[in-house]
Amino acid sequence: MQREQVKTGGCLCGAVRYEIDGPLRDIISCHCGQCQKTSGHYFAATATPKEHFHLTKDEGLKWYSSSGYAERGFCSECGSSLFWRMKDGSHQSILAGSLDGDTGLKTSHHIFVADKKDYYDIADGIPQYDTYPEDLKSG
Ligand SMILES: [Zn+2]
Repeated sequence: MQREQVKTGGCLCGAVRYEIDGPLRDIISCHCGQCQKTSGHYFAATATPKEHFHLTKDEGLKWYSSSGYAERGFCSECGSSLFWRMKDGSHQSILAGSLDGDTGLKTSHHIFVADKKDYYDIADGIPQYDTYPEDLKSG
């Protein structure tokens, strides 16, 4: 957790905008098959406690139910992938690329690397996990 100043972000066309006024978690990169499909590559996401996340424009926002427990938020106007959240409201991830400008964040984990595609290598020295490590489940 780091950074307390207000950060902004949104989709490509501007039909979804948000502000974050709390700490942002470092980036977790997810290489699972669902994240490959929704992002076109892999998913790099941060998160903040929900009281610090504020949608300021949600005209384009749609939620796709991607599993029994999770759904993925995207802009129905421009197609940008934006969020991943638990249906029970316990957690929401925010795609790092949707933040405006520099993030000040670092990548802390690569997860579901056993499912990654064959056209790239992960060679940044950051810890890799074949699934979702237990120690992340509180985040
Ligand atoms: Zn949009």
